[in-house]
Amino acid sequence: MKDLVQDGKEYIMRTYASFPIVMDRGEGMYLWDKEGNKYLDFVSGIAVNLLGYDNEKLKNAVNEQFSKIHHCSNLYLNEPNIKLAEKIVKNTSFDKVFFCNSGAESMEAALKLARKYANKNYGEEKIEIITMKDSFHGRTIGSVTVTGQTKYQEGFGPLLPGVKNAIYNDIDSVKELVNDKTCAIVMELVQGEGGINPGKPEFVEEIRKICDENNIVLIFDEVQTGIGRTGDLFLYQRYEIEPDILCTAKGLAGGIPMGAMMAKSEIAKAFEPGNHASTFGGNPLASVAALVVLEELIDNNLLDNVKKQGDILNKRLNEIKDKFDIVKDVRGFGLMQGIEVEQDKLKPILEKAAEKGLLIISAGTNVIRFIPPLIVNEEEINKAMEILEESLKEIE
Ligand SMILES: *Cc1c(COP(=O)(O)O)cnc(C)c1O
Repeated sequence: MKDLVQDGKEYIMRTYASFPIVMDRGEGMYLWDKEGNKYLDFVSGIAVNLLGYDNEKLKNAVNEQFSKIHHCSNLYLNEPNIKLAEKIVKNTSFDKVFFCNSGAESMEAALKLARKYANKNYGEEKIEIITMKDSFHGRTIGSVTVTGQTKYQEGFGPLLPGVKNAIYNDIDSVKELVNDKTCAIVMELVQGEGGINPGKPEFVEEIRKICDENNIVLIFDEVQTGIGRTGDLFLYQRYEIEPDILCTAKGLAGGIPMGAMMAKSEIAKAFEPGNHASTFGGNPLASVAALVVLEELIDNNLLDNVKKQGDILNKRLNEIKDKFDIVKDVRGFGLMQGIEVEQDKLKPILEKAAEKGLLIISAGTNVIRFIPPLIVNEEEINKAMEILEESLKEIE
């Protein structure tokens, strides 16, 4: 494995500070590296592999679809994609779906649609976008501009003009930035990469009101919180506050790259043929995979498992918080939970856990994130918590 790690360093562009582990295969909740070490996976490829590894239904659907047709572009329609769009529309408050391949792309599509809509309906001046400090929306120039963290932006300027940052959960900071030129407000309902910070319901409600009163398009980024992660299909459904545009990706196709941007008809119709596109978007392989994921969540009660296991995970994490001084806080919904720890202890804890066979990752500078596959059961949560406790003991 050492040689492979060395070759990886030699040939792959260094954009990630990867662990020196080469993953080889997976089954259910577990992964094995090239040396045969076994890991309990509470990362899911960053909230992606919702059905874990080597899932029969996912594998069969993708294999069967591959034998039929694996790609045809959007020059032609494909049945899995039509069925997927229908399933999404019938289970959300949106009327139309645009498919792409990643979270950043879904955000780009949302920003473009919001600007097009404002341009067509309210004129060329209405271009400003308000986003939140400590947010994360992706790495393309557009999505990194709306990401409210300068560390992701340094050296890439000039960024998009017309973007301003408000403070999350501070409604006055939003009101100060709103004017006739405001075209869109972009936000996460839980800031994921920013450190698992949930939005206050009254803050989100006020933002909805501000958008309605000022003809502003409200965009929710549910790239991480969406697709069952928090116990509802989308987190806006728990908040009972609807955005005009919703972005999702990560878990959508259970590990096959796919993103989606959804909107109500009134806004969606601002896009006409030729206005926006994606070669791979809505690809039949990704579409059949996403159909399996949504069927599991909606029709086969996987959402219920997320709620149940999420409660167990939250309870166990709170018990650990009471036992260890270095654990300061527990936050999150469903199977997207985080514990705040002392900043200098964070990396050693992650490394110690990996050494002991548990994969966990950080969020922000001082939060450890728990985002297992949604198929996780109580026994696996208990196992993960045992390893976490042992790691905390050794680091403390
Ligand atoms: C991961 C993430 C993105 C970016 O998604 P990519 O697929 O990496 O482009 C955007 N927004 C949120 C909230 C995310 O968690």
